[in-house]
Amino acid sequence: MQIKQQLRLTQPGTYSLILALGWTIVIAVSLLVSISVHRQEIVAIAQNVARAYIDKDILYRNWNALHGGIYVPADRGLSPNPFYPPSILERDVTTPSGRHLTLVNPSYMTRQIYEYALKEHKVSGRITSLKPLRPENRADIWEESALRDFERGVQEVSSVVTEGRTGYVRLMRPLVTEESCLPCHAHQGYRKGDIRGGISIKLPMTLFESATRKQIELLWAGHGIIWLMGLTGLYVGYTGLRRRTEERDRAEEELKRVNAILENQATTDSLTGICNRRRFLELLQAEIQEAKRYSMPLALIFFDIDHFKSVNDTYGHEAGDTVLQELARIVTNMIRQTDIFARFGGEEFVILVHNNDVRTGRELAEKIRYTVGEHRFPLMGTVTCSFGVAQFYPDDTPETIIKRADDAMYAAKQAGRNRVETRCDCNTGTV
Ligand code: GH3
Ligand code: MG
Ligand code: MG
Repeated sequence: MQIKQQLRLTQPGTYSLILALGWTIVIAVSLLVSISVHRQEIVAIAQNVARAYIDKDILYRNWNALHGGIYVPADRGLSPNPFYPPSILERDVTTPSGRHLTLVNPSYMTRQIYEYALKEHKVSGRITSLKPLRPENRADIWEESALRDFERGVQEVSSVVTEGRTGYVRLMRPLVTEESCLPCHAHQGYRKGDIRGGISIKLPMTLFESATRKQIELLWAGHGIIWLMGLTGLYVGYTGLRRRTEERDRAEEELKRVNAILENQATTDSLTGICNRRRFLELLQAEIQEAKRYSMPLALIFFDIDHFKSVNDTYGHEAGDTVLQELARIVTNMIRQTDIFARFGGEEFVILVHNNDVRTGRELAEKIRYTVGEHRFPLMGTVTCSFGVAQFYPDDTPETIIKRADDAMYAAKQAGRNRVETRCDCNTGTV
């Protein structure tokens, strides 16, 4: 019963633990999803930045191409481009004042700017082609795959790649051959409208790190606060549930205790503490059924205190009660655990002798008669009892066997009291 009680008391704890675990999983999943969504947003932003870069670059390239290239001073670190085809005349010119200028076409300009950007902003850009004029412009594996996609009509290729421990957003757009490209690239077989190559941008994700870190910290903090609030609510619910469960268990225990007391009161004689008549009749019924099923012998002893009225009259009712209590104690010590001893009413007692025949019942009755007769009761000294013993027959009911035992006891009274009479058909038929 104690184990059952402990199990029941731990139930609110178990439920709350499961709920807390579920809540933690929900919050963890929400946090992971939010972080993942945020990372996707950052990638989308990075792609937009890369697009803006390329758009601007293409704009400048077109402007340059519109003018057929631009001349810049050749004395500030810019070398004349050695890859122009011979058809390009006046690559290098000298102004009337003596300044050396060199022609910078759109590709050369873009390359110069990308090299500059790499130094300043860590953003790298390239113009690549499957058939580059300049070997350094050869496409890498990622770019090669993008260029092939362009040939199939794809307008833009973008993905996030990791190099070393750094993540990059790569974005590439096709470069379509225009009129202004032909002076340099016509000899490669390109015609207007052909996909000649691509312009590719690589943005390190570290550029967005501080914004990402801040946002992820906010997500952690927000989820942490909601998680703690949930756990607090669960704890409050758990303590309330535990209190109510304990109250319920205590009420049930109290109910069981009261029921046990009531059951005891309903089946026990309050003066002597032995079985009362009601309980005895229940047990007798069960014993008779068992005796019938297993052909088990039974004997019933009925006994009544002799002249008890005069005991009460002479020594008082309380002294009479003491005799009843003492007598019950003496007899209880003389019978077996399996025998049933009860106060049948007033100063009448009954013993159901389990698994024994009338002969043994009679011997037990004689032993009790003798022991009680020898006992010294306070005030009145000795009291005697008259006994009737009945044998159980297979067709007996509780009433018939009680009646025979009672008749036998009456016979003992008639025969002078302080004696044992038997009712059975053991040898001579029913007496
Ligand atoms: P007999 O030998 O024929 O049995 O005589 P008796 O006086 O014992 O029988 P009777 O039936 O005349 O009286 C029984 C008495 O038992 C009457 C009653 O006062 C007493 N008695 C019954 N119950 C109790 C009890 O609980 N306490 C006390 N003190 N006396 C009781
Ligand atoms: Mg009597
Ligand atoms: Mg009586």
